[in-house]
Amino acid sequence: MSSASSASSASASSSLGSQDASASAAAGVTVPSIDPRSIDSCSQDSSTPDPSTPDPRPQLIHHAHAFHQRGWMFGTAGNLSAKLPDGSFWITASGCSKGELTPLQFVRLSATGELLTQPTPAAKPSAEASIHQAIYACFPEACACYHVHSVPATLLSNRVVDDQLALPAIEMIKGLGVWNENPVVKLALFPNHLQVPRIAEAIAAQFREQTPDVPACLIRNHGVTVWGASPEEARNRVEVIEFLFQYLLAGQLYS
Ligand SMILES: [Zn+2]
Repeated sequence: MSSASSASSASASSSLGSQDASASAAAGVTVPSIDPRSIDSCSQDSSTPDPSTPDPRPQLIHHAHAFHQRGWMFGTAGNLSAKLPDGSFWITASGCSKGELTPLQFVRLSATGELLTQPTPAAKPSAEASIHQAIYACFPEACACYHVHSVPATLLSNRVVDDQLALPAIEMIKGLGVWNENPVVKLALFPNHLQVPRIAEAIAAQFREQTPDVPACLIRNHGVTVWGASPEEARNRVEVIEFLFQYLLAGQLYS
């Protein structure tokens, strides 16, 4: 059974952060946020981080650097986030190289997308924060969400004609929480949109109704998003799913 099987339903729609709100309004879409009544032990909004809570940014910087080294976050692509016990989350700011992040290149957003902490005026929330917001809304147990752009993910997304990518039933699938004998596992695939909140809305709408087989989803011509109970778990799952993508591509090459 997948660890994603404990996903609970997301709440009704709500506002995004300042920049994303305008993008969302322009696109005429809304993104669900965490319903305070359904939040797990991680949550109740506050305007300032609890000083007793460990700062996840150094770990996110470390993981982003590793992903950049592997070619999964080239340019300024992708974003990593980690949720705090109050339900807010730190996320990489828009337009920053993931190979050389500093703690000032993050913003902290509330569960409903409001900008809570902006270390410098240059640190702006990315429109892709709406995807993280949707994931946290759908999966209260998720405390980290990683979104990367890799060549294998992008290539594979183009070789799937429907809205699911079949993942191989090999040993590595256990790394995504699948422990069934000879499992049939499908990875949800979503269309890409210029207006990112539209992607987030589609993800939230599907996962509200249908628990995914694995804690991950793929966006066509774009990249993969993975979540976990901690930054370490999210990091491991990114590595596992990228391994599976490479395995599938190699299989097509040699078949
Ligand atoms: Zn992206």
